[in-house]
Amino acid sequence: MTKILITSGPTRQYLDPVRYLTNASSGRMGAALAEVAIGHGHQVTVVTGPVAIQYPSAARVIQVDTTDEMLAAVLEQFPEHDGLIGAAAPCDYMPQRVRSGKIAKDGRPLTLELIETPDVVATAALGKRHNQWVVGFALETEDQRFRAIVKMQRKCCDMIVSNGPSAINSLDNEIEIIAADGTTLCVVSGTKHDVAEAIIRAAEPLMEIDLMCPDARRR
Ligand code: C5P
Repeated sequence: MTKILITSGPTRQYLDPVRYLTNASSGRMGAALAEVAIGHGHQVTVVTGPVAIQYPSAARVIQVDTTDEMLAAVLEQFPEHDGLIGAAAPCDYMPQRVRSGKIAKDGRPLTLELIETPDVVATAALGKRHNQWVVGFALETEDQRFRAIVKMQRKCCDMIVSNGPSAINSLDNEIEIIAADGTTLCVVSGTKHDVAEAIIRAAEPLMEIDLMCPDARRR
């Protein structure tokens, strides 16, 4: 049985105790991937930011709030898994300074200094064992295919799923799955469940290393 770790949903970066930055990711893509992977007989752990949807009851679900928390959970869980699918949309920026009290309005513009959060997929992929695999997502508005390939290489992924901004918070998706050598494995358009089916099927050859070499997981 292959153990798959899936990141899902948005994260939140607090400005003060009540306000935060986030995005409109619904977690539906992660939930569909979890459902399909379980249907294919795999064991699934989902690390999710705050979402309104339900994950399959057979999945182990770890709830996080911030990108740092998502990274910590992934780094803790990844060694016990064979592969990681990064379907989350972690908040890429956080305020340089988080105020301990609620920021009071004073009638003037508020300037926030934002710094980048860590990249969960890239950090996990950098430390992966030879028998572990990582699938990333790339959401681009222009030059989608080219930028997805660059992203796959920069983030040390074994496969990347390229999609557009219409994927965010929608029921359907249109994707291109690109292999590590830059070839297109398939183009799929349909419900997130249909798309998840194609992604899990495309990832299964990456899992075969386990079937061929079941002891390889031990370092
Ligand atoms: O750079 P971009 O956000 O487009 O990259 C998308 C991929 O990287 C997705 O797989 C997403 O889950 C992952 N990612 C991440 N941590 C971040 C930003 C993106 O794991 N801070």
